[in-house]
Amino acid sequence: MRRTRIVATLGPASESDEVVLELAKAGVDVFRLSMAHGDIPSGIERLSRVRALVPDLAIMVDIPGPKIRAGSFGSLPVTLAVGDEVEVVEGFGETSTSAKIYVEREDILAQLKPGDRIHIGDGGTSLLVIKSGATTIAKVTSGGAVMGKPGLSLPSSILNDRLPTDDDRARLEALRTEPFEILAVSFVRSAFDMVSVRTVLSRDDVMMMAKIETGEGVANLDEIISVSDAIMVARGDLGVRMPIEEVPHLQKLIVRHGIRYARPVVVATQMLESMTHAQVPTRAEVTDVANAVLDGASAVMLSGETAIGDDPVGTVITMDRIVRRAEESFDYAKWGSSLGVQQIVGTGTQSTRITAAITGAAWRAAMEENAVAIVACTRSGMTARAISRFRPPMPIIAVTPSESTARQLRSSWGVQEVFVSPSTDIDVLCDFAVAEMKKAGIAQSGDAVVIMAGSSSGGTAITDTVRMVIVP
Ligand code: PEP
Repeated sequence: MRRTRIVATLGPASESDEVVLELAKAGVDVFRLSMAHGDIPSGIERLSRVRALVPDLAIMVDIPGPKIRAGSFGSLPVTLAVGDEVEVVEGFGETSTSAKIYVEREDILAQLKPGDRIHIGDGGTSLLVIKSGATTIAKVTSGGAVMGKPGLSLPSSILNDRLPTDDDRARLEALRTEPFEILAVSFVRSAFDMVSVRTVLSRDDVMMMAKIETGEGVANLDEIISVSDAIMVARGDLGVRMPIEEVPHLQKLIVRHGIRYARPVVVATQMLESMTHAQVPTRAEVTDVANAVLDGASAVMLSGETAIGDDPVGTVITMDRIVRRAEESFDYAKWGSSLGVQQIVGTGTQSTRITAAITGAAWRAAMEENAVAIVACTRSGMTARAISRFRPPMPIIAVTPSESTARQLRSSWGVQEVFVSPSTDIDVLCDFAVAEMKKAGIAQSGDAVVIMAGSSSGGTAITDTVRMVIVP
């Protein structure tokens, strides 16, 4: 089993029923649906259709925050050449060209000043404002090909909206009863942003993933992670808003933080960018994906490659191969022991500390006795996520009564799910887990299996028991 997860973004190239099913077969664990494109009803329709097609996988809905998009350049690349002057004007649903770029946001152009820079897409193409106003004139300073509806990055002083934006709020209200597991929140700058979005969504069955893509997001990483269920290294915007040479180091920093807090952490953007059109990735991209695995990412993500690329399925197959090979070189024992029994910091509640201690003990016991599996009996998924941070070499099995927890765990490194009927009896859960391990061929008679389970004390379920079971 591949242990690092693959997230694939759906878009015009991949959202037909047929391609979604092929992508699932190729190894996608989480489908990302962006709510930045199209209206809310069509987004919800897409979500229900994908949910029905892949009932066992996780769906991540991504809300754009204050992201500004250009009017569509169409489905064929449009070249912006260095030195060309372009008009930048406000307009919705219009077609952008190499001479006139529409900005789909009111009241923004008036805030631009000569000398400001506008980055298009993930920053490869940029413009320098020469004259501002309703018709802003800008010069192309870094050329390239653009297509679709790229995001526009403007100076951060202009984008000071708090989250959720009015548009996000409308999306969140429409999503209150829809079937998905993860909400990716763009442009999170503080814990307050995350808490505000969580309050509007009002769901405790959806994991909240903070996309770290601004300097403030990085500066407030600890407070943001402690109120989030997962994080994303959103390298596209991060590389525009921070000096580009910082990106590899920020990736390592954010991944390490995610691990310490036992949160799934996704490394995203331009991982196999050249495969949007080419059949084979560059050597640098292959190395980037492998390095993300070695950094300890829970998941690696494809964006444009699967949303608008020529061969979304081939790209996922390529990513799967790179990840499997990188995992062969992963030093599992070193990773776990350097993590030690480090507490999961953050909210620092007693139950969090107990989960940290129990999962640390389970990892040590499994390594010392060479156990064939570590089983987490888990209702919310927390225990499975906490043991996953040790990256143990043996399978992690989450035994859960909850379908939505099972789907959420598709974003966690190395966790396999097994369903169980609800029970709080530890003996019943242990017997069930051992029988399932035998049935799946993971454990044979005489093997050691480590099992974590919980009791309910004072109404709160806490994983407070670790057992070493010798399979009968
Ligand atoms: C990013 O900026 O890297 C990112 C993942 O965000 P989006 O694809 O929504 O622009």
